[in-house]
Order: sequence, then C-alpha cells, then structure tokens
Amino acid sequence: MHIVHIASELAPLAKVGGLGDVIHSLSKEFVRLGAKVEIIIPRYDCIDFSKVKNLHVEKKELVISEGKHKINNTIWKGTFDGLDILFIDPHHPKDYFNQGTIYGSSDDAAKFIYFSKAALEYLLQTKKNPDILHVHDWISALIPVLIKEMYAPLGLKIKGTVLTIHNMEHQGKCTPFHLTQAGLKGDSFLKPEKMQDPLLPELINLLKGGIEYADIITTVSPNYEQEIKTPQGGFSLDKLLLEHQNKLHGILNGIDIETWNPEKDPYLVANFSSKNIEKKQDNKKQLRTHFQLKEGNFPIVASVTRLARQKGPHLIKHAILRTLEKGGQFVLLASGSKDEMKEFIELKDALKENKNVGICLDNDEMLAHLIYAGADMFIIPSIFEPCGLTQMLSLRYGTIPIARRTGGLADTVFDIDTSEKPQHERNGFTFDFPDAEGVNWALDRAINFFNNHPKKWQNLIHLGMKQDFSWVSSAKQYLNLYKEL
Ligand code: ADP
Repeated sequence: MHIVHIASELAPLAKVGGLGDVIHSLSKEFVRLGAKVEIIIPRYDCIDFSKVKNLHVEKKELVISEGKHKINNTIWKGTFDGLDILFIDPHHPKDYFNQGTIYGSSDDAAKFIYFSKAALEYLLQTKKNPDILHVHDWISALIPVLIKEMYAPLGLKIKGTVLTIHNMEHQGKCTPFHLTQAGLKGDSFLKPEKMQDPLLPELINLLKGGIEYADIITTVSPNYEQEIKTPQGGFSLDKLLLEHQNKLHGILNGIDIETWNPEKDPYLVANFSSKNIEKKQDNKKQLRTHFQLKEGNFPIVASVTRLARQKGPHLIKHAILRTLEKGGQFVLLASGSKDEMKEFIELKDALKENKNVGICLDNDEMLAHLIYAGADMFIIPSIFEPCGLTQMLSLRYGTIPIARRTGGLADTVFDIDTSEKPQHERNGFTFDFPDAEGVNWALDRAINFFNNHPKKWQNLIHLGMKQDFSWVSSAKQYLNLYKEL
C-alpha cells in the first residue's frame, strides 16, 4: 500500500507541537508494517537540513498557477529516520516558507492552499497515483476538495482520502478569492452545504471542506471524537460532524517509543527502566543543576507545553504558585507567541531568586527529554485536549501525570482514587473542572501521596512505565480504514 501524507509538520525537522510527532511516528509504524510511505511538507527555511540524508532535487521545475500567475517550484527529496520526505520549495515572490516560522503570518491560508495545490500537481505530473492521500488539519483539508473538483478530472488516480483532525479550534478561514486563486470557482463554495463558515457567512472554512469531501475522517482519541460532535467541542462544526459521523473515527495517538525511550535516550545523564527506577534520581539531580534548584526530598512538578489558551496557561501559573505553597518545586518549559509569553516573562522575573522554580521560555527538545526523566509529576490542566502526548511521554519516563479529564487525557490518565478502572490501570491524578480548585484538588493529592506513601509512589511509577503507548494497535486501525478505501 502506498500512503502519502501531506502536512505542515514533521518532527523533529519542522515541529511546533504534537502534530509533528504524530506524522513522524505514525509513518514509521506504517513502514514497519510494510507500507510505502511518503511525506510531503513545505521546505521551510527553519528546517535543519543537516539531519536529512541524501537531500537532492527530485524535480527542478514544477509550475503551478496562482490566479493569473505561473510560479515555479523545486521539489526536493531526502530521507530522515528511514522515511521518504518531499519538500516543496516555491519560488514565490512572497517567500511563503522563508519566514522563519511555520505558522503565524498573515498569509497562512494563502500559503498552505498554495502548498496543497503544489503537492497535488506534483503527484499528477509524476503520475505517482498513490493509494491513499492522508491530510492533516485545515492546512491540507482543501486537498480532498481539489481532488474531486479538479485533479481527479485531470487524471490523478487515488483510492481515497483520509482527513485527520488534530485540533478543531483551527479551521482555516479565508475568502472565496483564496479558492479562486487555487483555480476553483470561489463563490460557488460559499454555500451552507459546501464550505461556507457557519459563524462568518462571508468566509470559506477549509476544514469544513475537508469534512464534506474526505472519504474518511479520523480524530486523535475516542473521547475527542465524542466531544467534537457537541457544541462545546465542535467549534461550530459539530452538526456537520454529526451528519458525517459514519465516516468519523476516533483513534488514539501513539508515541514514538524509540525516540522516547528512557533506557536509551541520549539526552539523559542516566538511562533507566522500570527495573532500575532509582537511576531516575540522577536525572532529577541533573534537572536541579540545570535550573539551579535546591536539593532536598521534595517533589518536582513539571510542565512542557505551548502556552496557547487551550493549554490553560492561567492554571499552569496557578499550579506553579500552589506547588511552592505545598513545599514542592516546579519546572516549566514553555513556548508561545509574544503575547502568550508576556505573563510568564513577568512571572519568571518575579521568581528569579526562588530556588524552587525553574522557567525556560523556549522550544527545547533536549531539555524536554531531561524534564520528562527528572520530574516526579507532570501537570496538564488543558481546557480541551484532542489527544495530548505529554501525559504518555511522562508515564513512559516514570513521571506521574496530573491531568484535566478532557479529550484524550480522559482516555489515558486514570485517577488513583476516583477512576472506575481496575486498580492496576490507575496511573495518575485527574480533575474535572478547569479552575484553580480543580487543580488544587488533584495537585494537593499528588504531592501528599508523594510525601506520605513513597512505596506506593514507586508502584505507580512502575505501572506507568510498563504501559504500552506505541503505535502498534492504532496504526493497524488506520490501515484497516485505508483498506476499506
Ligand atoms: P500540542 O500538539 O497541542 O502542542 P501535544 O501534547 O499533542 O500538544 O504535543 C506536544 C509535543 O510538543 C510534545 O512532544 C512536547 O514534548 C512538545 N513540546 C511542547 N512544548 C515544548 C517546548 N516548549 N519545548 C520542547 N518541546 C515542547
């Protein structure tokens, strides 16, 4: 089976969050299962190409039209971690992918529509005819539309399209003119039964187009599949998803258990497994050295996160202060826009003399590994969370999650006191309401448990580390869906 992913992220080359991790690790699992996989991403200027093997020009000239303009693109090919990657490099006057970042510029819709079209043009011109085109989020959600309306009639043969929704909040809202620029009749899509946005009727909604036109839709956890069919979780597309629920499937994300392996992780000062958890202490010591924290027998609570509203930044701030009140230590590794960071820059400054807090406002993959390994607990107070990978990474590194019971967090973290799961499946602390009291309720219990029940805490670590968060079962679910097509 030949699968082509068309996406905006691929970890670690171009990663903002979990989407990049998923494209990388799911593709690796498909290859392991014998599929042929290619991944098409933009050639961003911020990619570190020294990590890409055998980088070469695959196609020097690929001309596509944007409105009245004809624009040339170069297609590069290389491999990373055994995966075949195609990079689209537009020679566009607006320097679409040479802006130093992946998202956040005012022309995001225009550039990713352009990218989607270029990917299809490449497949058409090279007569690749893959079996499955797998697209991700609003970024490439126009592809199923472009195929049915433009590229299938031009001769592109594929067996089916799969759209994975990693996050309902971002839907790619743009004008009909954006579609016209791609060669469609933009105004004809501004209808409720086509791509008209339900809230802003003068705008086109790209994710809605993907939902209408894709053969199969998946989302990243079974619980999130239920949530997005409600007004609270659907961000105005809940009714549409209900209409299409027969083609909607919730499949839990996995993690890359090779990259995230405490037994072999090169970023740790001491490797460890569930059989020698005491070595985790060396990483805790190193984490303290890194942040110049005080030594002592108190827990380290951690958070590695983007600071988007979705992640509950006000609750992360609250958790930092509450942890200090309770005699614990906190380390935070967080990234975000200037606006999102502002409050945390101030907090960092206010706490700079405090030897119980370490705050790093950056994106730092290496430090993330040390935090998962060195911390005792990991807090995720999300307002909503489609799947969440950090709770699984924490568990794999013997760090106990404290999570709000929402989306995929509710599918993976089970409270040691209140869960209905059997005792041996309870792996952390949860709370229901995303407010300060909710955080206190779970965080206080976790800190008390750590302080008063060291033996039971060790057992909890043991259980978590032995859980299977690999892609083995979820990748098979995807393959079964592909086979249906
Ligand atoms: P989301 O995709 O919404 O950001 P996920 O939990 O699905 O959330 O995935 C987050 C991924 O991004 C994890 O691999 C996490 O370690 C990583 N990550 C988040 N923030 C940072 C950061 N500041 N530095 C390094 N890695 C980060």
